[in-house]
Amino acid sequence: MKRYKDWYEDSFFTPVWLEDDTDFSNVEWEEYNKRGNKGIKKSILYRYLDKVNEYHKNTIDMSMALVQASNWKEEDVIGWHLGAAYAGCRITLVKNRRDWLDTAKHETMHALWTYIRIHTGTDLKDVLGTDEDGFVHGDAEGFEEYKYEEHLPKIKPHLQLAVGEDKADEYRSLLQLAIRKLRKIVKQLRLDIMS
Ligand SMILES: [Zn+2]
Repeated sequence: MKRYKDWYEDSFFTPVWLEDDTDFSNVEWEEYNKRGNKGIKKSILYRYLDKVNEYHKNTIDMSMALVQASNWKEEDVIGWHLGAAYAGCRITLVKNRRDWLDTAKHETMHALWTYIRIHTGTDLKDVLGTDEDGFVHGDAEGFEEYKYEEHLPKIKPHLQLAVGEDKADEYRSLLQLAIRKLRKIVKQLRLDIMS
C-alpha cells in the first residue's frame, strides 16, 4: 500500500492511515450489478468495518481492500467503488495485479467525487465540466483514465472543504456520544448513591 499512500499524500493531504491484513481467501462473493459482476459479499465488508468502528466510532471515511489476484473472483471488473456508504465510510475494492495502483486511483476518484458532493453539496461536474464517468473513466474529451494529476488542483479546494465539514460533523457526533455516556455514568452514580 505504500505506493498508494505516497500518491495520495502527494496528491491531496496526509490522512490517518489504518492498515490491517485480512484473509480474503475464503470469503463469499455476491453479484453487485444486474450484469452479474461480483464483489466480496457486502455484509462481510460491513462486519469488518463494524469491528474497526468499535474503536474508531464511525470516523473512517474510506476503506480500500487490496485483494490478492488469486482471491479475486470476478473476471471482467478489476475494482469497485460501492455506491452507498456504510457508517459514513466509502468502500472500495481493488484487485492486486501489476497495475493495481491505477485501479486504486480510479476507485479513489469515484469515492472523492461522492464524498465531496455529500459533505459540501458541490457537484464536481460543475467544477470539471464533465460528469463522473467522463472524468474517472476518461469518457469525456480532454480527460484520460488514470491521468488525473492535471485536474487535481481544481478538485483539492473542494476536498479540503469537504474534509472540514466532515470533521465538524464527526466531532459533533463524538461529542454527543460522550455526553450520552456521561449521562449514563451520572445516572449510574445517582443510583449507586441512592442504593
Ligand atoms: Zn469506474
